[in-house]
Amino acid sequence: MWGPGPSRRSVLLGGLVLTGAAGGLVRPSQAWASGSVAAPPIIDCAGWGARPPTRAVPVWNHRPVRIIVHHTATANVGDLSRGAAEAVARLIQNFHVDRRGWIDTGQNFTISRGGHVLEGRHRSLEVLRAGDRHVEGAHCTGQNVSAVGIENEGTYTALAPPERLWDRLRAMCAYVCRQYGIAPTEIVGHRDFKDTLCPGDAFYAMLPRLRTEVADLLGTPLSDRAARRASWPLLRPDSAGPAVEAAQHLLRAVGFVDVEATGRFDERTGAAVRRYQQANRTEEVNGLVGGETWPLLVSAHDADQQEVALALRAITPGGAVRASALPGVDEWKRLLSAAAQRP
Ligand SMILES: [Zn+2]
Repeated sequence: MWGPGPSRRSVLLGGLVLTGAAGGLVRPSQAWASGSVAAPPIIDCAGWGARPPTRAVPVWNHRPVRIIVHHTATANVGDLSRGAAEAVARLIQNFHVDRRGWIDTGQNFTISRGGHVLEGRHRSLEVLRAGDRHVEGAHCTGQNVSAVGIENEGTYTALAPPERLWDRLRAMCAYVCRQYGIAPTEIVGHRDFKDTLCPGDAFYAMLPRLRTEVADLLGTPLSDRAARRASWPLLRPDSAGPAVEAAQHLLRAVGFVDVEATGRFDERTGAAVRRYQQANRTEEVNGLVGGETWPLLVSAHDADQQEVALALRAITPGGAVRASALPGVDEWKRLLSAAAQRP
């Protein structure tokens, strides 16, 4: 999401060309490199009349390791023309530069509903073509030095993206994966790292399909299991089920004992989440439990271990939990992901 999202500015090291510790010498695996994947047509910044960046964009001397998919949360317009696509790119750049105070567009690339692919932040295209460095964006705090950000025009909470957009996104992801040696399983959504609805429930649910289709284009098919990688359930008002119950126990474990572990996301739960987010200085204080708040909750220090065990029991099939074996963050994610998918 590009608009009402992050309020805190990303830390940008303007003008510096940074040399990563690994010196950018990691080779893409032969499997990805061998696919024959053509770049989709991409309109560069000059092509859509971008303003120059206010400072030199930071270019890192290493390859990015994942792709983060966003939706712009703007209207699902019917104008599929190139002109409409360029207008969106300009609107976003103006917002990011004039309102956010960023040096340039936040995302590396933008795809319109008509399927036009545009360069976002300057130099993203030139650097992608070379395939050995990365332009730092401002689309997902904490991930900007290691993830290519792609904004997809529209709002995909309930509706799926149109076919033209989807086809170009798939082609673009395949090209980025090939250029950088990124595994298709590393195509993820904004909500995997932040407490945000982005890229929308409907779009997010299609990411396993995107990974599968991109892997097919690269000639390296994925198993269904690999394509469905574990993800933090995104909890919000009116969410219900074992993941909510687990969150409520974890909130109780860190001192919000007025929260009742009912398995329904009620007002008291939302208020506790906001207070917890405030105390932990998360990027958003919005009451959603997503990719930023979950990892904090499951790894909180000084948590009441009885409540933590109850949280674990709520998401463990059969409820068989040994207190001596509390899981690490990745295992919590796997358990919560599985619990949220059980009927
Ligand atoms: Zn986003």
